[in-house]
Amino acid sequence: MSAANHDIQVRMLYVSHAVGPQSTTMTRSILMQAQAHNRAHNISGVLCQGQGFFLQVLEGQRSHINALYGRILADTRHKDVELLHWEETTQRLFGRWAMALVHLSVNDPMVKLHHPDFDPYAASGPRVLQQVLDLVKSGQPIE
Ligand code: FAD
Repeated sequence: MSAANHDIQVRMLYVSHAVGPQSTTMTRSILMQAQAHNRAHNISGVLCQGQGFFLQVLEGQRSHINALYGRILADTRHKDVELLHWEETTQRLFGRWAMALVHLSVNDPMVKLHHPDFDPYAASGPRVLQQVLDLVKSGQPIE
């Protein structure tokens, strides 16, 4: 049986540190690359960027997500990539977006109120996933 011959869906979340400044040009190029590829492979998710961090949720067929994560790990635009959460799922949380973009600011009132100790490297995966969901609800995702 080939790796792609199944319909097991997964959701994963990782955190990383940006290499260099998180410029609009860099973000736009990552987002354009992500949206084109993800749409073609029925991958959905959200990319949160800011404060020198990337937090990304990816949802889709397990073999597609594994292959993409392998490429993301090798990408020199970020470092210290750490997998925080991985689960099988039958329900997508970010199915509307091939890749939404949310800007991350620790000065955001929502972050300050609900997550005053914001440090994704030190927090449990489900807790960071909840933070991402809160950010998407309070932020302005870009399609
Ligand atoms: P190639 O296009 O052959 O590039 C090889 C290497 O060159 C990359 O690893 C990278 O280090 C570098 N590179 C590529 N493009 C640029 C550029 N414009 N500027 C500077 N350096 C560059 N891809 C997706 O398809 N879906 C996603 O959801 C997704 N999310 C990402 C999230 C983050 C935080 C980052 C940093 C990248 C993301 N990418 C995503 C891009 C992904 O890492 C790969 O670059 C992409 O999948 C192409 O893979 P490739 O092996 O063909 O790389």
